[in-house]
Amino acid sequence: MDCIFCKILKNEIPSKRIYEDEKVIAIMDINPVVDGHVLIIPKEHVEDYQGLKPELLQHIYKVADKLTKELMTKLNSKGLTFVVNYGDSQLVKHFHLHLLPDYQLKEKEMDVDKVFEILTK
Ligand code: AMP
Ligand code: ZN
Repeated sequence: MDCIFCKILKNEIPSKRIYEDEKVIAIMDINPVVDGHVLIIPKEHVEDYQGLKPELLQHIYKVADKLTKELMTKLNSKGLTFVVNYGDSQLVKHFHLHLLPDYQLKEKEMDVDKVFEILTK
């Protein structure tokens, strides 16, 4: 299967991981819209939100809650936006939740390496 996120999960493509457990990983988005743009990706290949089991969604929500607190503290953000794309708006057909600190509040200021350093130190 030619899925970029499955390749990331198998370490065939590099990624900047900020979180991992038995069910999900969280990585820095390669083309961030804001500083701290993170994707939560389930390890199971599920094409979109419609294929997500409620238990997995609940787990993703818990991880999102934990990472939201971490991102907002470490980046001094005043707000955060969750985004799930679907249909033609979804470019990568492996479900992922976008976490967007200070979306609509602040311009992007840092490169991904710098944000990754802040989030993982
Ligand atoms: P979408 O499927 O429309 O929700 O968007 C896919 C997202 O995945 C975009 O924000 C891309 O920048 C991001 N993306 C694509 N390839 C990679 C990659 N190799 N590493 C990290 N993020 C990626
Ligand atoms: Zn996949």
